[in-house]
Amino acid sequence: MNLFNKAVVSTMPMIPKALVGKIASRYVAGEQLSDAIAEVQNINKEGGLATLDILGEYSKNEAQAEQTVNSYKEILTTISDEGVDSNISIKPTALGLKMGYDVCFRNVRSIVKEAAMLNNFVRIDMEDHGCTDDTLRMYYELRKEFDNVGVVIQAYLRRTIRDVQWLKKMKANLRLCKGIYSEPRMIAYKDRDIIIQNYAFLLEELLQAGSYVGIATHCEETVWHGLKIVKQLGLNRDQYEFQMLLGVDPELRQIIMNEGHRLRVYVPYGEDWYPYSTRRLKENPQLAGSVAKDFLKLS
Ligand SMILES: Cc1cc2nc3c(=O)[nH]c(=O)nc-3n(C[C@H](O)[C@H](O)[C@H](O)COP(=O)(O)OP(=O)(O)OC[C@H]3O[C@@H](n4cnc5c(N)ncnc54)[C@H](O)[C@@H]3O)c2cc1C
Repeated sequence: MNLFNKAVVSTMPMIPKALVGKIASRYVAGEQLSDAIAEVQNINKEGGLATLDILGEYSKNEAQAEQTVNSYKEILTTISDEGVDSNISIKPTALGLKMGYDVCFRNVRSIVKEAAMLNNFVRIDMEDHGCTDDTLRMYYELRKEFDNVGVVIQAYLRRTIRDVQWLKKMKANLRLCKGIYSEPRMIAYKDRDIIIQNYAFLLEELLQAGSYVGIATHCEETVWHGLKIVKQLGLNRDQYEFQMLLGVDPELRQIIMNEGHRLRVYVPYGEDWYPYSTRRLKENPQLAGSVAKDFLKLS
């Protein structure tokens, strides 16, 4: 960790909430669903697609998880009523995973079923390594019943090369990302170059086997690998998409769309933006450093 990034992380608790809010406002659509829908409308106008995520800590009881289910159903109805082009991204821990697999499965299934009725799609985000088995199992079980569901895999995990073998056989709909959590070396690659190479390797395996992949990255090198693989395999634009987080490198977003590729923006919103923003920054010191540098440039 370089000194600047280390300093940003260690001073984080002293940064006033309003200042974190100013930094976060670029990356979070707002507190209300109406804010998020307005953001999606802008993205759609630019030619992009979106996926909506409600920010929040993990649910501490079943009632809280159920409330999150209802909020996601409200989003699905609003997407349909407003006619915007967006799906949703959900987190198993917000839907009761800490209370047990069965509670979470019931909640996720209920959202996926509602989405199917509204002709929409649900992406299950991937959290830290303690959630990986349950999240993949949930995806496997749901696919027996539904087509409108996808999951996320992380290129930094050593296990992903094995997971890809069964996922590609079932032509899984996947988002491939590098992984944002701080994981031990025993289970995750720590070297950036290896993660980039592993990402390209996994992407090629999946696209070649006919999986639909959301190529989620802001890294020019990984985007280049994606473009190269898409070209070499002669894929049509409806066989993959690029994905980026709201507020991160809008110029790269525009470059990718200008070249005719589908691009989906991950749009987080909600009242719980503060713990989300600080945790993301703490979990990724490099990111904390770049966000702070951006802020210094802006102010
Ligand atoms: C659409 C989408 C969905 C994701 N879903 C998940 C998930 O379900 N589970 C999971 O573990 N991870 C998820 N991630 C995060 C991902 O795993 C990486 O941690 C993150 O994208 C950084 O990797 P990178 O490929 O963008 O390359 P990097 O080389 O790490 O980043 C490239 C550039 O983008 C900037 N950048 C990257 N991320 C951010 C950010 N959040 N805010 C500000 N600047 C940033 C960096 O400063 C750097 O300049 C998702 C990412 C995207 C784009």
